[in-house]
Amino acid sequence: MNNQLAVIKEAVEAQLDAIKDPATSKGLLISGRVSGLEVRDGGKVSFTIEAPADVAEHYVALRERAESEARKVDGVTQVLAVLTAHEAPKPSAGGIGRVKHVIAVASAKGGVGKSTVAVNLAAAFASLGLKTGLLDLDVYGPSAPTLLGTGSRRPEMSRAKILDPLAAHGLKTMSLGYLVDPASPMIWRGAMATSAVRQMIDEVAWGDLDVLLLDLPPGTGDVQLTLVQRVPLAGAIIVSTPQEMALADVRRGLAMFEKTQAPILGVIENMAYFETPDGKRTPIFGEGGARRTAESAGVPFLGEIPIDVTLRESCDAGAPLVTTTPTHAVAQRFIEIAQAALANVARLNKPTPTIKVV
Ligand code: ADP
Repeated sequence: MNNQLAVIKEAVEAQLDAIKDPATSKGLLISGRVSGLEVRDGGKVSFTIEAPADVAEHYVALRERAESEARKVDGVTQVLAVLTAHEAPKPSAGGIGRVKHVIAVASAKGGVGKSTVAVNLAAAFASLGLKTGLLDLDVYGPSAPTLLGTGSRRPEMSRAKILDPLAAHGLKTMSLGYLVDPASPMIWRGAMATSAVRQMIDEVAWGDLDVLLLDLPPGTGDVQLTLVQRVPLAGAIIVSTPQEMALADVRRGLAMFEKTQAPILGVIENMAYFETPDGKRTPIFGEGGARRTAESAGVPFLGEIPIDVTLRESCDAGAPLVTTTPTHAVAQRFIEIAQAALANVARLNKPTPTIKVV
């Protein structure tokens, strides 16, 4: 660390220690509540506040105060404080501790084919020989049961409170759709959605995985941010159709993932065009919007997926096209995109502070 960053770090530590820890009545720092304090180039500060699990709610306002106090230090441009609450780890705990890369798949809106892309990308990673999992976090409209044909199958509980993911098409998968009756109304709010999501992350025997893809609920707001802050991400992929891709949408996505310090692995343009058997391409939803937007936002463009009847049929039939027909031109596109995304995981992941799961 250069001298200037070291000076900033010291000043931030002093600011944080001037805040009284409600549990010990001493400074936050001396009470051991602050961990992973880092100051990066440009004055970006991040740290974790570790709250005792039983009184974690007392620390919510304190987290904000810690951020604003740290922001007062000269040279600080940005502060991210993550609040975690720790209970002693269970001996047979599930979770994502043995997953090498967690990658989030996001979209600004619903209906752009985010889940279709997530499922086929997962299958593409598996076809490259990677142990792959797919976690469908769309609490409002889980699609994995349909897209993977898992239907009414239910995960089993192997050990105390630990669920085994469902194996489907060479993937380990988990979805809220596996845990609730699809006929029951999906009115998941606040605490309920949060606890279901925590269960799907922490209480699933994911085992050793190379890649775990998270299919996020559509949108880039607080709900999505809360989800992605629960796990250390290797990166995020944004899916869009050509005309949906407003620069503002990408910027919102970027801003959200910036808070998690996850790099954007790239943008995928879905439903890019329709190709007739004579090879003529019609850009039904406009042309190249996502590519241009990615370029102007300064993030990688991963590739295009055309509108394709076989792809749509494979979704409805509950089997990823990449698994059933890997030689299909669209399946090949998914495999190329998976390769490009992996290259970006390696290129864009610099050592960052680990954010612990709440
Ligand atoms: P989202 O997850 O963004 O809401 P879905 O993945 O559920 O969107 O896709 C919405 C619908 O569009 C589905 O019926 C799916 O089969 C279809 N679809 C998605 N991508 C394509 C594509 N490239 N070609 C044809 N149909 C597609």
